[in-house]
Amino acid sequence: MPSDRDVVTDASASGAPASSPAPSGAPGDHSGPPPILEATGVRKVYRTGTQEVEALRGVDLLITSGEMVMVMGPSGNGKTTMLNCLSGLDDIDEGTVLVDGADIHRMGDAARTTHRAERMGFIFQSFNLIPVFSAAENCELPLLVTGVKPKEARERAKAMLSQVGLDDRFDHRPTELSGGEQQRVAIARALVSQPAIVWADEPTGNLDSATADAVLTMLHDVHNAGQTLVIVTHDRGIGASGTRLVEVRDGLITYDGVPSGAPLAVAH
Ligand code: ADP
Ligand code: MG
Repeated sequence: MPSDRDVVTDASASGAPASSPAPSGAPGDHSGPPPILEATGVRKVYRTGTQEVEALRGVDLLITSGEMVMVMGPSGNGKTTMLNCLSGLDDIDEGTVLVDGADIHRMGDAARTTHRAERMGFIFQSFNLIPVFSAAENCELPLLVTGVKPKEARERAKAMLSQVGLDDRFDHRPTELSGGEQQRVAIARALVSQPAIVWADEPTGNLDSATADAVLTMLHDVHNAGQTLVIVTHDRGIGASGTRLVEVRDGLITYDGVPSGAPLAVAH
């Protein structure tokens, strides 16, 4: 899809500075709990053939325990790239990302995979469940990756599925579940390892509005229970419902603060 990010742009030409002071407990304020995530100067360049896209142009982000950070910004401006790079799903070109104090981009692949399975959960727009696995098998995967014994993994997966209201769907495969049920399996899978942080990329994007509301309510319940979450969304209502709003434009964070102070001039 063509976008204004298809070519590398001059950083000085379009990089707007962050427009608002950080709220208490956000970047720069080191008086609160230790950060769960500390990203500094993160740069990411996609190289395809002869073309380069500088998708992240120097992202700094500090997230502390208990935050519910909403990420907004126009399509093609680097939100998914930021999520993938800050969680270690993708490599970076420059900068550092500490998760629970560990530098995830200086770990070997195996260590990074284990660290991710133990400390992070993921929820995607398209659910990303494994089609040949049942709900319980999908949900127990992050536990098996980190060496939890199969019997305990199955029990914890079932307990988590029950918590999201799917006690009668343990053996169903994704194709035998509705979109909302699939996303609840994904939420259970994201939470089962009791991660430090849960990343969600447009988690309600493929759901009808009633189901999306139910999933959002569930995510707020999860946050109210103490979970730290970072959620990418196009929906202004969802964007305003977090404890903090981060706006990404042209590969940079252009707003980081309380939702009510945001310009919210977010185009789709
Ligand atoms: P958003 O999530 O905000 O819509 P993305 O992070 O997906 O934006 O994309 C940011 C920019 O990087 C876009 O210009 C996009 O075309 C480009 N991009 C994303 N993924 C890739 C990739 N795998 N290879 C090459 N370019 C990519
Ligand atoms: Mg995206």
